[in-house]
Amino acid sequence: MDSTAQELFSEKVTRYIKSFYPLISLSTFEEFHTDELIQKWAEENDAKIREWSNGVGWVDFKSKRPLNVSDNTLAGALSFVLDNDRQEGFLVLRDVWPVFQRESPQYDLQAALLLKKLVRRLQTSEDSSMTIFLVGARHEIPLILEKDAVRFDVPLPDRKEIEGLLHEHASVQQYDLNEDEVPDIVTALQGLGEREIEQLLNRACIINANISRDDVDLFISEKEQIVRRNAALEMVEGSENLGDIGGLDNLTQWLQRKGRIFSRLAEANDFGVDTPKGVLIVGMPGCGKSLCAKVTASIFKLPLLRLDLGSVFGKYLGESEANLRRALSLSEAISPCVLWLDELEKAFAGVGQTNADVTTRLFGYFLTWLQENTKPIFVIATANNIELPPELLRRGRFDETFFVTFPTKKEREKILKIHLKKRSKKLSDNDIQSLAEKMDMFAGSDIEAVVKEAVEAAFVDGKAALTAKHFDDAIKNIKPLKKMASDLISKYEEMYKKYSIRPASS
Ligand code: ATP
Repeated sequence: MDSTAQELFSEKVTRYIKSFYPLISLSTFEEFHTDELIQKWAEENDAKIREWSNGVGWVDFKSKRPLNVSDNTLAGALSFVLDNDRQEGFLVLRDVWPVFQRESPQYDLQAALLLKKLVRRLQTSEDSSMTIFLVGARHEIPLILEKDAVRFDVPLPDRKEIEGLLHEHASVQQYDLNEDEVPDIVTALQGLGEREIEQLLNRACIINANISRDDVDLFISEKEQIVRRNAALEMVEGSENLGDIGGLDNLTQWLQRKGRIFSRLAEANDFGVDTPKGVLIVGMPGCGKSLCAKVTASIFKLPLLRLDLGSVFGKYLGESEANLRRALSLSEAISPCVLWLDELEKAFAGVGQTNADVTTRLFGYFLTWLQENTKPIFVIATANNIELPPELLRRGRFDETFFVTFPTKKEREKILKIHLKKRSKKLSDNDIQSLAEKMDMFAGSDIEAVVKEAVEAAFVDGKAALTAKHFDDAIKNIKPLKKMASDLISKYEEMYKKYSIRPASS
């Protein structure tokens, strides 16, 4: 039988413990569950656990009650451990990352040096067999110990584990599960921690005395709450579908094809088809890039998560990477999903200017993730500016790059019809054609603005029917972007040609 993600993770850590790795950093969303794992490893290795918790001091690992030790600084705790003749068992250092962060008010170089001294002693002394766990929301290893630590992200339960939890719950609470409904229930619970799942199952069970497909909405709304707690991720709700896009045929056909693969992923993989990774859409503002991201989620019938790269940046060293890692892990846990990265050029502007700068490190982290991610996440990245780091444009990162530009006359006609229909309005084919002609330099968003203004004018005039004059006035009032930034636009269009980027429109 295949191992679950948690089992694989636990086996990996066990191997490091058995080979006497002194320093293991565990980044976790779920401290309770992580403690259960540490307890299990301790039992397997016959190790006693001692815990020092930032802000509290020495605590009893199980009850978390403070122990009566006067010195509750990390440096004091480490000196205490070093003063013992032998160092053995597990030492859990909880939430100590601010102590190792230079910008943090808690920064303590002495504590970092003492930790280094302890690690060196463990590496060289035959009598010492201690494993130190750094447990917290992020990995923060003092620079002087960078190479000595192994880092693990404690995984959230995978589908198999959630199914196990569900069956266990049904058996304890004595209700029957409809096996046909199990996959949907499991999908709705993905992205939640073990404890959260148990609590949620209990809550749902109080209402109906069982768990069924009827509880899926509750689970999804709970998940949305969790996503909301992550400042960088947002679950985008939307009703946009394929019929809302006018034109961009090459892109929409390509997306539909990838959507068909995604909906039968296991079958497609068995046949030798690769999991679609994602698409990069660059191009002019207001020409439908964001709209495409929303429509992709509807084509794929998957939740849409928007990752705001701007809010990933934090003020402490390592904070930005931790934020990005957290947001990506949460997306992995929620997968299958569509992950939308908006305004890519803003987040990664300045990449490569200095090697050590945060943007470059974040960019590197993101590229590696994009390359190595095996979870069913379809990434849709959008950017106004083609002057992106060339690594992003290289094949293999995204499955394809498209550029969107101003709509052709035929596309303008379609966009007009879409926005008129949204307002329950209709014009004759002749009127549509002549209006599309007049809106030569208009982006999709400009056309939408014209329709809005014309409909508003018709209302204010007290007239039920739209007339050509309403549109002519609106067209006069709206300054299309193409006119305002024509130099920049022709520069971009040249660049698309130079990089042979595929046009979104046929
Ligand atoms: P930006 O780069 O400024 O974010 P964008 O390319 O993402 O722009 P959208 O936000 O998708 O543009 O477009 C704005 C609005 O314009 C859309 O919500 C939609 O109403 C309308 N629009 C743009 N392009 C189209 C289109 N091809 N078909 C229908 N509506 C469109």
